[in-house]
Amino acid sequence: MRREEKQVQEEVGAVGPVHIVVAHEEDQGFSLDEEALERLLLREELCDLGVVVVSVAGAFRKGKSFLLDFLLRYMYNQVRLGFTCKPEWALPVNQVRLGFTCKPGALDFTCTTSSWMGGPEEPLTGFTWRGGCERETTGIQAWGQLFLVDKPDGTKVAVVLMDTQGAFDSQSTVRDCATLFALSTMVSSVQVYNLSHNVQEDDLQHLQLFTEYGRLAMEQTYEKPFQRLMFLIRDWSYPYEHPYGLEGGRSFLEKRLQVKQQQHEELQTVRRHIHSCFSSVSCFLLPHPGLRVATNPAFDGRLTDIDEDFKKELFCLVPTLLAPENLVVKEIGGVKLTCRDLLHYFKAYMKIYQGEELPHPKSMLQATAEANNLAAVAGAKDLYTKSMEQLCGGDKSYMAPLELSRRHGDLRLAAVRHFRLVKKMGGEELCRRYQEQLEAELDLSYASFSKHNDGKNIFQAARTAATLLCLVFL
Ligand code: GDP
Ligand code: MG
Repeated sequence: MRREEKQVQEEVGAVGPVHIVVAHEEDQGFSLDEEALERLLLREELCDLGVVVVSVAGAFRKGKSFLLDFLLRYMYNQVRLGFTCKPEWALPVNQVRLGFTCKPGALDFTCTTSSWMGGPEEPLTGFTWRGGCERETTGIQAWGQLFLVDKPDGTKVAVVLMDTQGAFDSQSTVRDCATLFALSTMVSSVQVYNLSHNVQEDDLQHLQLFTEYGRLAMEQTYEKPFQRLMFLIRDWSYPYEHPYGLEGGRSFLEKRLQVKQQQHEELQTVRRHIHSCFSSVSCFLLPHPGLRVATNPAFDGRLTDIDEDFKKELFCLVPTLLAPENLVVKEIGGVKLTCRDLLHYFKAYMKIYQGEELPHPKSMLQATAEANNLAAVAGAKDLYTKSMEQLCGGDKSYMAPLELSRRHGDLRLAAVRHFRLVKKMGGEELCRRYQEQLEAELDLSYASFSKHNDGKNIFQAARTAATLLCLVFL
């Protein structure tokens, strides 16, 4: 947790979001605030309960915090708090308790204003959210309070709400992003993948990267390493094709994730991979919340400013994730975790990512550029080696070293020219780096040719034999 955050909490005694994992942009490292996590998960009355982790993950400025605040409203109005609250938090925002279960298509939305959603003029609070396009800290935040819920089967569980935020906006953040998303997917029972407008092919590729990176870090390979995944599509604008909500989401996703014979192999692999990683995959289509939400800088989250369609769907979405009967305890390898176990796993996974044994994930562009350059290095080296073989290879006769050095110089130049002429991605700087690597490899190769050539020098060989003879007779 950042110092200011901690200070504010200690001083005011209020509950707020806690930064449990922070990515440091300067050195591309991460830190896990173990103390904050322990404070959260090791509360005596909660630590041995099954833990449910609901995470919302995605890029900046896509309405994650806004959604999480509604998840909080639901929790504060639906469940008993996990511990004695400070006075300002003792009274939930709204007193009405609704024992509804939400089925798509069977909605009674008329009670919204008196429901968990809050009063019509009540500003939305909780996880900070704001307009604009500036980026925020990359990392994982958890709500600073767990919720104790009685499930219909009589068990008690503790619910953690998490916000995972990252961006693929530069080379250096690919690793950070993959690590964060992998971590939050590994520790959550439900990962809500928050997307705008549609599921693009690169959203699927990113998901594949995160999950693959997650699978890599898990000690054992489980058949389905992760639990539930929900694609949450914001600003869905094709309700006439697939209606809003869970049912429309199901038909949309079925179509989007379908593996077809005529599809490019890459597209097929991504789809198979996603199905193979999660024990269940769903999708929810949310309408646009209205212009006041999206563009008015003075918007403070009050319900009157939000479009009816959006509220109606939100009213259904939130219980789909958080109604007691829908809560799933986190499992790893088929074993249900308690809050205490979760702490242990969090620390262990974090250690793996902080270590050096995992490969560093790269962006498609970076990986392609490196592959281009490597292929060009190999081609140029091959050209050099073949010409040198013809000149002074195994069965060729001895060459005067000076001549060999001169020919090496020419061939080296030709190889470097060849390397530079091959079209490659990645720009001049990367090209220069690989050119240096090529030059070093050519010099090494020359040293070996030269040694081999020396071995063929009969005068040299005779001189060595004579010296040996002298030594014997002496
Ligand atoms: P986060 O960075 O993903 O946490 O995004 P925020 O929750 O801070 O929201 C960023 C901006 O998007 C705010 O101005 C919100 O009012 C607005 N917003 C929230 N939900 C939606 C949505 O579903 N669609 C659109 N277009 N804007 C939204
Ligand atoms: Mg946010």
